[in-house]
Amino acid sequence: MTATQSTASHGFELLREQNLAEINSTARFYRHGRTGAELLSLINSDENKVFGVSFATPPSDSTGVAHILEHSVLCGSRKYQVKEPFVELMKSSLSTFLNAMTYPDKTCYPVASQNVQDFYNLIDVYLDAVFFPRLTPQIFQQEGWHYELHAPDAPLIYKGVVFNEMKGNYSSPDTMLLELSQRSLYPDITYGFDSGGDPKHIPDLTYEQLKAFHEQHYHPSNAKLFFYGDDDPDERLRLLDRRLGEFNRITVDAKVPLQPRFTAPRRLIHTYPAGQADEQAGEPAKETMLTVNWMLDEVIDVETALALNTLEHILIGMPAAPLYKALIDSGLGEALAGGGLDDELRQPMFSIGLKGIDPVNVGKVGRLIADTISSLAEKGIVCGHCDPGCTGAIRCRRLPSSGRSPPSRRRLPATRATSKRCSSAISSIIDTAPNWSSSPTGI
Ligand SMILES: [Zn+2]
Repeated sequence: MTATQSTASHGFELLREQNLAEINSTARFYRHGRTGAELLSLINSDENKVFGVSFATPPSDSTGVAHILEHSVLCGSRKYQVKEPFVELMKSSLSTFLNAMTYPDKTCYPVASQNVQDFYNLIDVYLDAVFFPRLTPQIFQQEGWHYELHAPDAPLIYKGVVFNEMKGNYSSPDTMLLELSQRSLYPDITYGFDSGGDPKHIPDLTYEQLKAFHEQHYHPSNAKLFFYGDDDPDERLRLLDRRLGEFNRITVDAKVPLQPRFTAPRRLIHTYPAGQADEQAGEPAKETMLTVNWMLDEVIDVETALALNTLEHILIGMPAAPLYKALIDSGLGEALAGGGLDDELRQPMFSIGLKGIDPVNVGKVGRLIADTISSLAEKGIVCGHCDPGCTGAIRCRRLPSSGRSPPSRRRLPATRATSKRCSSAISSIIDTAPNWSSSPTGI
């Protein structure tokens, strides 16, 4: 650490300063003295200014409380009392990015703009939204769930923005395979729940529980703040302190515990609605999907994180990648399934498989994946095939894939919910490789 300025400014204590030559930035890490909020401030000459505020929001059920809260805080706040300030912003602001995402254990509100006044306006709206939302019972019903009755003798039905969105998600086989793969690997901790909300459990959520979840989690003591760009570094501290100063420090227990390892691999089978129209006369139905899923060890250093991303790219990042090629060339399925590496969890997961499988070939697919990985671990990977992949993985990190974003939420459900489908199977084989990061060789 080299502290080159006064270590306290606008209520923030500078804990560490470091030059990051790779991105031509100076990084300053602060803690807000009054509340404990953490701030990472990246200072550089990039006109693409970025701000973010994030909270640890691990759920303890599948009511979708974190997701419904993410939607609800965007529906008006103490200072901005219009119905949908974010929709208004999207129409009028010069923002280059404006969104919010709910992850399995956190909720993030990032925003970006090239215009400094617009940037400050956006930050003001964001901070007011997360710390002082209106959160009325009507907003909860609109964004979460409510009953609707379309005729006096018709049955009561559930509606709600998140309820409808998640009904759409739950009618997508690919989304469900990913969701069930994750839940299966972490049955004892928060990742065993659906932070987005399971439509079966969303109606269990009450308005009071939503309010309590906000009070417990959307507090500066549980906040991580982020700045990037060429705006005035001192002004960042000043405008944050003006909002955070309204709070006193509290204790927030939002740490995700470690999932204990299984003592033996687990094999799970789930079903999903599949389309009769996809079946050919006289042909077996190839609607089965299978993934083999590993929970990896917690990654606490940058080198291992980069190695895992590189390894993922080498194994499945391109058609010539050995695991990708082995699965497709086998002819056992129609396309890859599984999300690959998900390193946004405390203990990351790796998930790979095939979809469009004849159910009789499920065992063969599982064995092919295990044999291919064992063979690569034993013999090494031929680097001539993977060099472009290695370079790509190092240069270009993936964009987050699991966030749920409000601007697209109203477009998602309709098309997915209309497909005519009948029963088929998802097959998930759950394995427990003791230490994925150290077993394969050749990178
Ligand atoms: Zn949503």
